[in-house]
Amino acid sequence: MNNYEYLLSDISILKGVGKSLASKFKRKNINTIFDLILSTPSKYIDRSIETKIKDLHIGKIQTVTIKVEKYNFPRMKNLPNKVICSDDSGKLECIFFNSYEGYIKKILPLNNYVTISGKIGFFRGRYQITNPTHVSTDKNKIKKIHSNYNLTEGISDNVFNKIINEALDNLPKINEWLSPEILKKLDNISWNEAVINLHNPKKNDEKKYINRLIFDEILSTFLINSNIKKKFKRKKKFPKKINSSLKDSVERKIGFKLTSDQNNAINEINNDISSNKRMFRLLQGDVGSGKTIVSLISAQNVILNNYQVAFMAPTEILAKQHYNLFKKVFENTSIANLLTGKTEYKKRKDILKKLENNEIKIIFGTHALFQNKIKFKKLGLIIVDEQHKFGVNQRKKLSEKGDANSDVLVMSATPIPRTMMMTLYGDMDVTLIKYKPKNRKEIHTYTKDVNKIDDVINFIKKEIKNDNQIFWVCPLIEESKKIDHQSSVVRYAYLKKLFKDKVGLIHGSIDKNDKEEILKQFLQNKIKILVSTTVIEVGIDFPNATCIIIEDSNKFGLSQLHQLRGRVGRGAKQSSCILLFKSSLSENARKRLKILKSSNDGFLIADEDLKLRGYGDLLGFQQSGQKTFRLADPILNEDLFILAENEIKNIEKESVNLSKYNPLLKLYDRADIVNELI
Ligand code: ADP
Ligand code: MG
Repeated sequence: MNNYEYLLSDISILKGVGKSLASKFKRKNINTIFDLILSTPSKYIDRSIETKIKDLHIGKIQTVTIKVEKYNFPRMKNLPNKVICSDDSGKLECIFFNSYEGYIKKILPLNNYVTISGKIGFFRGRYQITNPTHVSTDKNKIKKIHSNYNLTEGISDNVFNKIINEALDNLPKINEWLSPEILKKLDNISWNEAVINLHNPKKNDEKKYINRLIFDEILSTFLINSNIKKKFKRKKKFPKKINSSLKDSVERKIGFKLTSDQNNAINEINNDISSNKRMFRLLQGDVGSGKTIVSLISAQNVILNNYQVAFMAPTEILAKQHYNLFKKVFENTSIANLLTGKTEYKKRKDILKKLENNEIKIIFGTHALFQNKIKFKKLGLIIVDEQHKFGVNQRKKLSEKGDANSDVLVMSATPIPRTMMMTLYGDMDVTLIKYKPKNRKEIHTYTKDVNKIDDVINFIKKEIKNDNQIFWVCPLIEESKKIDHQSSVVRYAYLKKLFKDKVGLIHGSIDKNDKEEILKQFLQNKIKILVSTTVIEVGIDFPNATCIIIEDSNKFGLSQLHQLRGRVGRGAKQSSCILLFKSSLSENARKRLKILKSSNDGFLIADEDLKLRGYGDLLGFQQSGQKTFRLADPILNEDLFILAENEIKNIEKESVNLSKYNPLLKLYDRADIVNELI
């Protein structure tokens, strides 16, 4: 057995793990010995400090040395057995439910001194410990620091400790994969040392052990990113020519000048597509920063080289909007088409055929474009909009589609902290659109108690009088699929009474054609108020909408609210966002809404959101299916992320022997995304 193969074995090879225990572990996603070993204790209980009885704290786990004074074993069934103990400062009772007298007499021998550690209760003026488990006449036998796993019903800490230690007893010696320089920065702690001490800390020094393991986890992720990037760049491609007059003609057509950030983005992309290395680039810019037109210009450049373009969006509506914009800007309708999961069979067949013979030059669609059935004759560019909706595996699949000649551009509006950026997009080059077009006015954001909805209605009336349009967003209630759009239906009925046929409603269960029709009417300004669940969240562009009202706004993440708010303020008019809430807001919710009110900076909002909610909840992160870290926390461990980033740069620069990292990658990442490093 390879020395890390033991670690990747199923936990059932451990002696103490039978079928039923194994299935309990598996329910907790602990499948291998490695999973088991990386299940970190949720807390450590320090039993090393002794206390006098008079100084005990009720509710805490504490350790005392006491004399066993008297047994009190009642003959009645439901009464517990008691043992009265004392030290020179007071008395303490040990209470036993369902325990035999013989057992009690054995662990607490009369007139002897015992050390006992347990949770302190208090009843009728006496300190108590109930069913004590840590008792010994030998002080040294009480384990000093005890790991508490808080794992799952059916697996007690004692059992868990036993199994962990069985696994640790057979631990193979792992060859060091870290460089001596890095190791020094991590207190020279080897992997073996780290896992052993993590579960059996001697002093309160578990932090340095866990840091070593966190570092390994981050480094493995960065290594994979680096490897994907390298693979991407290694294959030579045929450089595409750039048509530099394209930009001017587009500007004339759309009636505005591109911003300097947009121009810069176009230049960086042009450099990539005209080079002989494959492009793998992320275009990041806050909502409304104007990424679409940048990507369409790049697409047109590629098309003019007689290559094809696949443009993917997370929703049909968005795909369609991009498709329409392309047709409008380039006035060439025959070479463009739209393919979604709902495209009819006949039309679909026709599209597939035309893609295969290079008649269709650009295809817009949802992830339906990922399917293997879809073949391109000469795919030259893949564009993915709102990248966070696509997971890393989909991204990999996409990077494998097309040959070396297909460049890849992904776009994202999700502002994420730098540590997450390195993790999620470390395999790509990044272009940032920092400033939005200048014709924008800052969106005014208000918070409002839903009890004062009349004020909101009056506000809307004024907006409609000025020929403006309004979004009214209701949250999805995820717990129950059946009522997920109930709130939007109720609100729609209410608004319908006031505004008659000026109101439209879309939500998840509305027929696709009806939905398109309603959106069309909204675009044509026939409908003034559009009530919806969050389907309008990403990307769609309605320049005439100037007001967005978000109901139960505290149920949304801040970044999500910011994205929703970005649906308005896209034209030159003053726009506003009204965050409705029910009066019983928690302190935390109040704080979060306040951040949104005071800032329009997506990055700052994402950072604050992260601090208040923890990174697991960050918009898109969970939906994307991206594997989250087991140990590392992008906020708390920022220093380790930066250390790993520097180490990756060293590894990329020098001719380091990469094969020594293979065990690290095998252990820390799922096999399906690991490729052996060469
Ligand atoms: P996002 O980056 O969120 O995808 P979009 O590409 O949808 O943003 O652009 C948002 C809006 O800004 C659109 O209505 C678009 O026409 C407009 N826009 C894009 N670039 C400019 C510009 N340079 N000047 C003015 N408006 C622009
Ligand atoms: Mg967009």
